[in-house]
Amino acid sequence: MTDAPGIRTTCAYCGVGCGVIVAPDGAGGFAVRGDPDHPANRGRLCSKGAALAETLGLEGRLLAPRIGGRDAVWDAALDLVAGRFGETIAEHGPDAVAFYVSGQLLTEDYYVANKLMKGFIGSANIDSNSRLCMASTVAGHRRAFGTDTVPGTYEDLEEADLVVLVGSNLAWCHPVLYQRLVAAKAARPALRVVTIDPRRTATCELADLHLAIAPGADVALFNRLLAAIADRGAVDEAYAVHLEGMDGAIAAARAETGGTGLPERDIAAFLDLWIGTEKVVTVFSQGVNQSSNGTDKVSAILNCHLATGRIGRPGMGPFSVTGQPNAMGGREVGGLSNMLACHLEIENPDHRHLLRTFWHAPAMPEKPGLKAVEMFRAVAHGRIKALWIIGTNPAATLPDADAVRDAIAGCDFVVVSDLFATTDTARLADVLLPAAGWGEKDGTVTNSDRTISRQRRFLPAPGLARPDWAILSEVGRRMGWPDAFDFASPVEILREHAALSGHAAARGRDFDISDLAALDEAAYDALAPLRWPVSARRTGGRFFADGGFFTPNGKAWMVPVVSRGPATATDDRYPFRLNTGRIRDQWHTMTRSGRAPRLGRHLGEPFLEIHPLDAVRLGIRPAHLVEVESREGRAILRALVTDRVRPGEVFAPMHWTAEHAPAGRVGALVAPVTDPISGQPESKAGAVVLRPY
Ligand code: SF4
Repeated sequence: MTDAPGIRTTCAYCGVGCGVIVAPDGAGGFAVRGDPDHPANRGRLCSKGAALAETLGLEGRLLAPRIGGRDAVWDAALDLVAGRFGETIAEHGPDAVAFYVSGQLLTEDYYVANKLMKGFIGSANIDSNSRLCMASTVAGHRRAFGTDTVPGTYEDLEEADLVVLVGSNLAWCHPVLYQRLVAAKAARPALRVVTIDPRRTATCELADLHLAIAPGADVALFNRLLAAIADRGAVDEAYAVHLEGMDGAIAAARAETGGTGLPERDIAAFLDLWIGTEKVVTVFSQGVNQSSNGTDKVSAILNCHLATGRIGRPGMGPFSVTGQPNAMGGREVGGLSNMLACHLEIENPDHRHLLRTFWHAPAMPEKPGLKAVEMFRAVAHGRIKALWIIGTNPAATLPDADAVRDAIAGCDFVVVSDLFATTDTARLADVLLPAAGWGEKDGTVTNSDRTISRQRRFLPAPGLARPDWAILSEVGRRMGWPDAFDFASPVEILREHAALSGHAAARGRDFDISDLAALDEAAYDALAPLRWPVSARRTGGRFFADGGFFTPNGKAWMVPVVSRGPATATDDRYPFRLNTGRIRDQWHTMTRSGRAPRLGRHLGEPFLEIHPLDAVRLGIRPAHLVEVESREGRAILRALVTDRVRPGEVFAPMHWTAEHAPAGRVGALVAPVTDPISGQPESKAGAVVLRPY
């Protein structure tokens, strides 16, 4: 490892999970540079990671607990939170309370939150903003592999001969992984790249072929591919012994009638390329996940890799890239309302028994809890009476955000843990708890290729701020479970998580970090990045090259899928298809990235990409304002006239909130329709009408 001065930690933003080194800059601040030894980035950083030091100022930080808008001491705030949650549970039952947490949390924070809700409160009403990010992938993985397993690694993108990017603007949303792909293609021009995206994004600049697919048509395209794989004799018959359901999946694919919006010659070129290239990686992200049939889209992709046996070998496999820095760690601790810790299944009595015994838990839910959209619907209807929101901003980011904002405002008791009191959600809290942020606490995160990295503290927590795991543990103790939440440091939490993973693995689960169960403080402090599994059974690497799926019979399941379009119809009143997403230099609702002046220079205000033909037809002039209205809400955005979008389709970024641009809240435009399996909202296929403003 390079002997570099400074603290090695991990970037606060996306799921690439880049290592950074933080050191004093000699002028009273800090300098951040890429860690040359971190396997995710090998010294690279993107614009957001490079500007991390600019986000460390304390301006606007929440420095003390607040009750009813007034500063309070911790004891009073914690007693109030524990007391109100306890009273609500006693009066209305455990399902009358809920936690809504975040993929920004560290694994240790996430573990304690999940343990408190599922094992001790006795409800599964803990969901995460990862529901908006990765839930369809989780559901697709589980029904194919038996577990939520990412089979491959980042190196596969470099070793492949064909990389297909589906619904992924990798260049802006996972920039360092994109840089790795650019470098691989420069070194080996024979590497082909295909992008599948309705928009011509920055990522398309690298593509040999861009398929500007119709919104929501991914299942139709991958069913065409699966049918062609079968018709051309490209099924891997040797690998097929590891599979169930292939005949049904192929029959469904052959019966596919859904359109793709693509010229037949482009489809033919894609089929030839994919089938004719053994080393193919299909990368997928939010364009696949954020859909009312996202789980089926994931299955359609997995089916093609399973049928050809192109999985778990160097340069081959389906590969989901996660949005958030610790979406994967959250999935590992069971931070979604339909999962248990260590990839145990909530519906499985044996798994519930294992967890209950391990935790000495007084209660364990027997059914999944509420998923994000339905959770806030239950808040609106008064079924959830006490809500704790940790490190996320649902009043701005959930679909139908105005209704969610109103639901939170009307909830009996709302606790918000955050760094700032000014977010759209924090403004609605009865109790505000000051959380320690990036650089102020210790823990671990897991990136998109299962690599666990340390986040390390290099600053004291300001004022009275505390790490989330410590706040949650205090509340657990005050609710009557002092032994279960007697954590004094994050390493104690990771050790417990690791020990539990060993028990889970012994029952055939994939997630196994049992070697970390004996970590002492010094070893935790020195922990270098490592890819799970980390155990005596096996370490790192890929999954499924030789089968070995985590299903009862060890075989993967190929699920027959049928394409269907977006759930929200366009019509004469709402004729435009609205796509939403990220921009290169901002993160989520800009609570951190909005503090770095240089990041505001790229795209500084909310905007709407609109095709020139539509702009002329509607009298919308470049850089003038546009009123955008959906069935749910309204926003005012700056017109960015461009042929990157197709006629009839528009794109708006999701970052701006009431805090930064009250009229630019794009979440207010998104319909609260979800995938029936994953519960993930359809954030990329809304219906809107446009008017010059
Ligand atoms: Fe951070 Fe992601 Fe950029 Fe890496 S690619 S520096 S993890 S935002």
